[in-house]
Amino acid sequence: MFADLEMWDAATALASDSKSIQADQILKRKAQTLQEKNDLVAAAATYTQVGDYLKAAEILGSQGYSDKLIELVRKVSNTEITALQKCLYYFKKLGHNIYAIETCKKMGDLKSLVNILVETMQWEEAFQLVQLHQQYQELVSLPYGHWLAANDRFEEAQAYYIKGGKPEEATRVLKSLCQSSVHQKCFDDAAYHYFSLSKQLLYGMNSADVKHDFYISVHEESKKCRELSEIYYAYEKIFRFIEDPFTLTLPEHLISCALFLLLKLKSNIPEGVSQRYILYTLAKVSNTLKEFKICKFAFEKLRGMRMDPTWQDAIELGTALIKGKGEGSPKQMKCYQCDSNYHPTNLKDDSCVICKEPFVRSFLSFEPMAIARFEPTVPENEAITLIMEESVESSPVDMFQKQLLISERQENGYSPIKLNAEQLRDLDFYKVFIREIAGEKQYYMQLSGPCAMLSKCCQQFFIEEQWEYLIISQGQCPFCRAK
Ligand SMILES: [Zn+2]
Ligand SMILES: [Zn+2]
Repeated sequence: MFADLEMWDAATALASDSKSIQADQILKRKAQTLQEKNDLVAAAATYTQVGDYLKAAEILGSQGYSDKLIELVRKVSNTEITALQKCLYYFKKLGHNIYAIETCKKMGDLKSLVNILVETMQWEEAFQLVQLHQQYQELVSLPYGHWLAANDRFEEAQAYYIKGGKPEEATRVLKSLCQSSVHQKCFDDAAYHYFSLSKQLLYGMNSADVKHDFYISVHEESKKCRELSEIYYAYEKIFRFIEDPFTLTLPEHLISCALFLLLKLKSNIPEGVSQRYILYTLAKVSNTLKEFKICKFAFEKLRGMRMDPTWQDAIELGTALIKGKGEGSPKQMKCYQCDSNYHPTNLKDDSCVICKEPFVRSFLSFEPMAIARFEPTVPENEAITLIMEESVESSPVDMFQKQLLISERQENGYSPIKLNAEQLRDLDFYKVFIREIAGEKQYYMQLSGPCAMLSKCCQQFFIEEQWEYLIISQGQCPFCRAK
C-alpha cells in the first residue's frame, strides 16, 4: 500500500522488517515510477541504489549527464563491465574524452584506451602505453605516421609506418599527397612530395635481394618521380609569376627557368603544367630585359597554340609590339664544356648543340653549371680510390676540355667522357662530384667557370656562392627543404 501511495521510505522500511517483501522490488518500482514522471536523475540514483547500473547508465548517458555518469563509473566495481562499457559508449558519443579515458582505465580496456588516446592525439601517453604493451604498436604507429605526414614531417612518418608494419603505407600516402598538391596548384608542395616519393620508393631496396626486373622498374619509377619534382619545383616559379607578377624570383632566373622547362618538356607535359604560362613568362620577362630575340621566339610559339580569347588579345598585341623592336642585343651564351657560343632559341633540347653535353643546371638560377660528366672505365670502388689519390696533373681541366672536343662525341650523339685509371688518378679530388640518383652513381668534374657545389641533402647542383647565401638567408635547402 505504501508503494501504491508512493511512500517509498515507509515501504522500504517495512520491507526491511518483513521477510516476505523484498526491498529491491520496492526500489525498482520506485525507480520506474520516477522515470515515468521524468525525474530522471532520481530514477538513475534509485537504479544505482538497487544495483541496476546498466539502467542507470542508460538514463544518465541518453540525457547527456556526463558528470553524473562519471560518478557512477567511480562508484561501481571494475567487474561491472556491461555497465562500464555503456558509460564508455556515452562518453565517446558525447565527446567527453577525459571521462572516457578514466572509464577505459577502470575497465582495464587497453585497446579502447589506446584508440581514444590516438583519436585525441595524445601521442605521448599513447606511446608510453605501447612501451608496456607492444601488441598495440600498430594501433599507435600508423595513425601517428599519418599525422606526421599530414604535417609535412614525412621523414619521421616513414619510420612509424615501418614500426606499424606497413612500409607501403608511406608510398600510398605520398602518392595521394602528390596528386592533391597538383590539383590544388601548390606546385612547390608537389615538388617536395614527389622528391620524398622518389626516395621512399627506394626505401629498403637492396640490389642483392630483389629480382632484377623489379629492381630496375622501381628505380625507373623513382627517377621519374625525381624528374617530376624538378619540373614542379621550376614550374612553381613560373606559376607564381603569372599569378603574382611581384614575385621575388629574379628576371634572369625566370628566363633560365622557363627555358629549362621548355627544353625539358617536349611532350608528356605533366598534369597542371601549362606551356602557355611558361612561354608567356618567357615573352614578358625577356621583353623587360630587352632580350627581344627570346621574346619574339616565345610569341611565335604562343601564336601557334590554341588560346582562349583573353589570352589571344594579349598575344596579338605583344607580337605586334615586338615586331618593330629588332633583336635588341641578344646575349650569347657560352658552353662551358666546348667553349662554343650559342643562343638559347637555337637549342633543340637541354644540351649543347655542338658538343651534345647535357646542361646540368643550378637549382636556384637554372643557369647551366660549369661541370661535365664522365664515366670511369674501371669498377666503382677502384675509381673512387683513384680519384682520391693525390693528383700530379697540373691542369686536369685542360685534359678534360680536350676530351670534350673529340669529334666522335658529336657524330655518335652524347655519351659521357670515358676516363681510364691513369686519367682518374690525375683528377683533382676537390673538383670531382659524385652524385647518386636512384642507385646510379654519376661523376662530374668542375670546369673553368662559377664554382659548383653538390647538395648532400638532395644531390642537386648549385652555384656555390648562391648556395651559401641561400643557407644563410633561408636556413634550408630550397629544393628538398632540408635544414
Ligand atoms: Zn658544348
Ligand atoms: Zn636539398
